[in-house]
Amino acid sequence: MTDDILQLTEELLGAHIGEISHRGWATFWCPFHDDKKQAGTTGLPNFGVNVDEGNWNCFRCGKKGGSIRSLYKDLGEDFSPRGADYSPVVPRKPRARKYESEVDRLDEAIADTRNKVISSPAMHYLHSRGITPYTALLYGLGYGRKYHQVSNSVEEAAIHSALLHKRYHNWFWAGSVVYADPPIQPTVLNVRYLPEETLPPKTRPFKIRKNHRTWGDRLVPLGSWRIKPDTKTIIVVEGLFDMLAGAQTTASLYPQVVVVYTNGSNPSFHITKWFEEHPQYHYLLIPDPDKAGTAWLEQVSRAIYAGGGSWQSFPVPRNFDDPDEAFLAGCPQFYRRCRWSKR
Ligand SMILES: [Zn+2]
Repeated sequence: MTDDILQLTEELLGAHIGEISHRGWATFWCPFHDDKKQAGTTGLPNFGVNVDEGNWNCFRCGKKGGSIRSLYKDLGEDFSPRGADYSPVVPRKPRARKYESEVDRLDEAIADTRNKVISSPAMHYLHSRGITPYTALLYGLGYGRKYHQVSNSVEEAAIHSALLHKRYHNWFWAGSVVYADPPIQPTVLNVRYLPEETLPPKTRPFKIRKNHRTWGDRLVPLGSWRIKPDTKTIIVVEGLFDMLAGAQTTASLYPQVVVVYTNGSNPSFHITKWFEEHPQYHYLLIPDPDKAGTAWLEQVSRAIYAGGGSWQSFPVPRNFDDPDEAFLAGCPQFYRRCRWSKR
């Protein structure tokens, strides 16, 4: 379960060619037969990778497989899941991609998601999860719609980033809370799809496989744009709503205390490396109360330790499902710990 299928494939095969189809297929030159040599005659690459599911196949030589792991294996390359390749001795790699993320060219569209967000289904949903309009506006949250009025160049960037359907012109963030990080000229877009029943009919003309999706390059922990010279303590959580709830609850401790999230339980190499490179902070790690949370805690704490930083973790109390619930319930243990570590 990784959000980084496209990135993992591009690290192996180079940048994809052309647009990603609305079913999630990205095209590459086939690495299993002499596909590129045929370019003069057929002119087209034949190798498809599904960026949502990870399955892949070649329309010419028929080679196929069901996961990115098997693609790496069949090409004789070592596969390690995102972030698992983190090790303190591994230096940051220069980015080998031909095309940088175009998420930073999408400002116009992101501005349009923020238009009337207060009266949108996104705000209703945020409210139901305990997030106030103040917090929503502080983080520049938007409501992803099916259609947005934007200029041609923004539309092109969105099509190339697989955010907009080329033919039907609907946006793949339709019916979601949109979070751009940082809020101006973002490098990452993280959306949380709203439950179907909270949306007006026909808001989302496609099926979703997970309740969240991410575009762009995850290079630093999300939310770290709020760090100031006065910041001493960083609370680290896994998901967007955990961060929003945490930031809201600890608002009076800002900027001494800042909350960031890793965008899932298996953070990218660069995000993990960031913790190693910032030992000046004290970290409070709050894992989700599940098995993935335990692995997450191990990975993030290892990076902090390698950099010489200090950390402590505290578990979500038994009667809560997630860190965001514990924060918003005013869990006194949580608050006391945060305030204590501010000093
Ligand atoms: Zn082939």
